[in-house]
Amino acid sequence: MESSKTWICDRCKVEMRLMDTQFNYLKRSFRHKALRCPSCGQVYIPEDLARGRMREVEKTLEDK
Ligand SMILES: [Zn+2]
Repeated sequence: MESSKTWICDRCKVEMRLMDTQFNYLKRSFRHKALRCPSCGQVYIPEDLARGRMREVEKTLEDK
């Protein structure tokens, strides 16, 4: 994973920062560090992270 890469918010043209963000998925919520625009709050989620994390949550639900 490229952690040194800089992401710019396409709306505000400001650098996105890694911030602790709350996600909601399947009526569950979890916190994860995500790139967010400090100006408008838009979250950038890398596709692999989103996929991996969602699968994790799904697995947890199946185990119940
Ligand atoms: Zn923005």
